[in-house]
Amino acid sequence: MQTIPANLRIFLSWVTWPFLMVTCIAATAYGFAIDRPALVFTIAYFIMATILLVLERVMPHEREWNENDGQTFANIAHTLVTKGTVQTCIVFASVIGITNYITPMAEPGHGIWPRDWPMAVQILMGVVAAEFGLYWGHHIAHKWRPMWRFHAIHHSVTRLWIVNTGRFHFIDSFKSVVLGLGILTLLGAPLEVMSWVSAITAYCGMLTHCNVEMRFGFLSYLFNTPELHRWHHSKDLREGDKNFGENIMLWDWVFGTWFNENRRPPVNIGIKETMPPGFVQQLVWPFVHRYPPKTPVQNPVQTVPDAAE
Ligand SMILES: [Zn+2]
Ligand SMILES: [Zn+2]
Repeated sequence: MQTIPANLRIFLSWVTWPFLMVTCIAATAYGFAIDRPALVFTIAYFIMATILLVLERVMPHEREWNENDGQTFANIAHTLVTKGTVQTCIVFASVIGITNYITPMAEPGHGIWPRDWPMAVQILMGVVAAEFGLYWGHHIAHKWRPMWRFHAIHHSVTRLWIVNTGRFHFIDSFKSVVLGLGILTLLGAPLEVMSWVSAITAYCGMLTHCNVEMRFGFLSYLFNTPELHRWHHSKDLREGDKNFGENIMLWDWVFGTWFNENRRPPVNIGIKETMPPGFVQQLVWPFVHRYPPKTPVQNPVQTVPDAAE
């Protein structure tokens, strides 16, 4: 199945990411136009998943990432129980009306959001504003141990493919939603903008984790492409503590964490801690895990008490 003509392979490697992004965004716009955004989003999302699953087989980025790692059930369970639930709630928020109850600031007249501007401009602004919260939520999750424990669930995978797109501890997902959409709420953005940002984040997230051989060129300067996110999953923190953006790389540029090099990102990805294999154990792990004490003093004999203290 992995025999695909070289020319077609190169062509697909260049067009897959932009084609799927543009097509899914166009489909989402159509969904809003016919007043069926949630339905069309779901269809577009599953078509994208199907295409990527096939491409992962016929033109994988890393062949060994196609090997079973025993985490498929845990990945799906995390997706359904945590991220999937949260994202679905947000995308369907306009249907369910939850946001109106918990965020009166989403009503017209609140905040500074320019609701009369063209929707395309509002969506662009929404992505940039939400990304600020997403960026810092992600950055802090890497630097602050209490949050890293939750984010480590996502990074504990040893292969990247679309099925671990939604592998997030529910606390980690909750943090992202609160920070990303919280900013839009405070600014007074309408529900349609929030739904758009959620849909774009879902599309981008799946593409970002897929194990498909792709080329990006200038796109990696602007967007969180799989190329950039593969660095982010590196065990080497000089590479892994970079590229915190979820959709766009603007804030990585602003805060100096954009990273890409003209070499292949590492195949051997993961974390230094040992993550239990089971889904329930992983849910509990962040609450019970204890880090070893900091490196002990080398020569305790020499550490005399400071007379000044
Ligand atoms: Zn991360
Ligand atoms: Zn990831």
